[in-house]
Amino acid sequence: MIYTDTRDRAVKADFKTAVINGMNSATGGLYIPVSYPKMDKDLLNKTSEPSFCDIAFNMAKPYVDKEIPDSELSAIIQDSYPFISKLVPIDQVTYVLELSHGPTCAFKDFGARFMARVMAYFNRNEDKNLHILVATSGDTGSAVGSAFQGVEGIDVTILYPEGKISPLQDKQLSTFTGNVRAIRIKGTFDDCQKLVKTAFTDEDLRKKLRLSSANSINISRLLPQAFYYMYAALAVKNRSRHDNTIENPSIITCVPSGNFGNLTSGLIAREMGAPIEGFTAATNENHTVPDWIAMGKYNARPSVETYANAMDVGAPSNYERIVSMYTLDQIRHMFASYWLDNEGIISAIRECNRKTGYIIDPHGAVAWKAWDDIRNGAMKRLCEGLKGDYKSPGLTPNVPDWANSVTGKKAVGIVLETAHPAKFGETVQKAIGREPPMPSRLEAVLRLPDNAVSMENDYEQFKSWLIENL
Ligand SMILES: *Cc1c(COP(=O)(O)O)cnc(C)c1O
Repeated sequence: MIYTDTRDRAVKADFKTAVINGMNSATGGLYIPVSYPKMDKDLLNKTSEPSFCDIAFNMAKPYVDKEIPDSELSAIIQDSYPFISKLVPIDQVTYVLELSHGPTCAFKDFGARFMARVMAYFNRNEDKNLHILVATSGDTGSAVGSAFQGVEGIDVTILYPEGKISPLQDKQLSTFTGNVRAIRIKGTFDDCQKLVKTAFTDEDLRKKLRLSSANSINISRLLPQAFYYMYAALAVKNRSRHDNTIENPSIITCVPSGNFGNLTSGLIAREMGAPIEGFTAATNENHTVPDWIAMGKYNARPSVETYANAMDVGAPSNYERIVSMYTLDQIRHMFASYWLDNEGIISAIRECNRKTGYIIDPHGAVAWKAWDDIRNGAMKRLCEGLKGDYKSPGLTPNVPDWANSVTGKKAVGIVLETAHPAKFGETVQKAIGREPPMPSRLEAVLRLPDNAVSMENDYEQFKSWLIENL
């Protein structure tokens, strides 16, 4: 597979270059594959439940072809996914796709674990370790740290702002051991990011250490997220006639979005043949993309803090990938978009629990509420010309091609559950009056010793620490 660049189509890179570089520093652009080959027909047309690892191997193969031998790729996939996504029906026409069964209880485990093993493979013949630096405001750091824990030839240093993340997130980050270590910075997330950026441009440091990053724009984090879209869409296509007697339903996936990496992976799965009719882009008050779909103007803005904090992104980096794949018009045919304010997030968690018994986290709640509104009249009203106002929460005024299948009761929704509700216990408690049960792997983290190093927001101190400790 050849990879090109969102800003310069003349760029040609192989998979290894795209993975190790993360982004193209010469142009500031993001790597994208030049084509999206269809998955194996046999797998696409299978009428029994698909196997997650078969799908993953088949989908990954054309993107890494020849650069990683089949036997190695298969081992990477087996090792990345001892857990898989779970599809849970919560009513006649709604499935929740639970993506929280990985070690850190958020969907980022799917991308980070694959990326870690691919990087380790590409680093196998180097005599020097690769040093990954990550600044995090929460979920990314724990997924990346956990994914690289014990991976040979790679060290990870995570920087996070002291006192600015939840106590559970602090525990998840500070309890890594061995090749993964965390530094608690007396500063903000932006300060952490600045320390990392300064390190990357420090020629003297780069002479001593091989540095790399692991952020969410890396193509090797995006590709594996397409696996679960394919898995879920094929499973729903097969199950639907039993679950709700709709033959060949129109499958709509509803995606809680921040940086839009998850949704971009859904687009890749659809290109590869996943029977997905359309998408609902669901956001919190950071509704840059819904506004763009509604008005045609893209206005990046500073982020605002919300209860769905992993989606607090005002300038989503994968927007650039989406517009390199489709025109705005094509997006409008495929997408509905929807957003909720904080009050709406709390009532969505409550309403989902009251209607279905399911406890959903604050991120998934936005997507659930979007789907619930869409099928209970909001899309019909939009079709009838009642446009509403994109400046208020709810469905933004754009009628996708699949609107008729919703009004004609031919549509089935897949709501992506991006994190376990126990990671956001306080917010869930506010909504339903009790905290969700804690999975044992989260509870275990609470009992581990704190190994994080505390540090002032000072580059020279950070640099000497790196040199002394790596
Ligand atoms: C990261 C994250 C998101 C947002 O995903 P994007 O790919 O950035 O759109 C949503 N929910 C949770 C729980 C997350 O951790």
